[in-house]
Amino acid sequence: MDIGFIGLGNMGFPMARRLIEAGHKLVVFDTRKEVTDKLVALGAAAATSPKDVADRVETVMASLPSLQASLEVATGANGVIEGSRAKRFIDLSTVGSAMAVKIHGLLAKRNIVQIDCPVSGGVGGAEKGTLAVMVSGPKADFDLLKPALDVIGKVFFIGEKPGAAQTMKLANNFLSATAMVATSEAVVMGVKAGLDPAVMIDVINAGSGMNTASRDKFPRAVLPRSFDFGFATGLMVKDVRLALEEMKQLGLSMGVADAVGRLWETIIAAEGADSDFTAAIKPIEKQAGV
Ligand code: NAD
Repeated sequence: MDIGFIGLGNMGFPMARRLIEAGHKLVVFDTRKEVTDKLVALGAAAATSPKDVADRVETVMASLPSLQASLEVATGANGVIEGSRAKRFIDLSTVGSAMAVKIHGLLAKRNIVQIDCPVSGGVGGAEKGTLAVMVSGPKADFDLLKPALDVIGKVFFIGEKPGAAQTMKLANNFLSATAMVATSEAVVMGVKAGLDPAVMIDVINAGSGMNTASRDKFPRAVLPRSFDFGFATGLMVKDVRLALEEMKQLGLSMGVADAVGRLWETIIAAEGADSDFTAAIKPIEKQAGV
């Protein structure tokens, strides 16, 4: 299948590479020329703008770092909306349901179908093709795309309602954000009492406290103090804020979510948006004096 791919960052690059390796023909664009060049070396064709991508293929995927970037790439002056061939825009980014619905409405005016397709599973999952891929949009487009999406992970059809897969993704990432700070607090409590953090993680992973932070993030990036898991604090906070906004829009007030939201605001203030999200433990350690 001919596929356009816009946004070749931590997630987009390995997803695009897997699609090429599976035999799809890719037309790629990123504002950073160096990553585009790397994919051209692997067999992709380079485009000069999102519009250029959409002039050349019917199916355009995007993996972008902010709501504004998704809106701009999809509907801006040089966006997919201006392309002569584009029929569907598949947004693999996490943008929340309100932005997804907005983009859906704007693209529909030009007969371009917007398909929500946020993913979960991190850079490792993108490299191995084991992401959880959450899709909402017309079932016929889902059926058409399914073989290509199978290349990047385990594919779930959430429903036809625009934004539905974004709500699913925010529920997932709220849990991931919660696991990270809750595990950090549990480990810092133990360290303050004199326990070995590596032993604690082994015990937690053999016990009922096991979660994605204890299983993946602590062994790979927190215990070795490398803080290089590949997901920025800015992106985690984006998702936590989107989850809180989603709850508010639904008329919900959630106790854990409010506390987790406040904690992540203190983490981004202390560590900065570009830090890796596994650095969340640092301000918790500092406050505890360990
Ligand atoms: P990233 O910052 O590593 O990559 C974003 C890429 O988009 C960069 O290469 C950047 O140059 C490019 N870009 C930015 N603006 C652009 C524009 N206007 N036109 C073309 N290219 C543009 O981000 P990431 O970690 O790959 O995340 C991408 C999306 O995937 C985000 O929505 C994030 O929340 C989501 N996500 C990330 C992870 C993860 O572990 N990193 C996991 C699941 C989902």
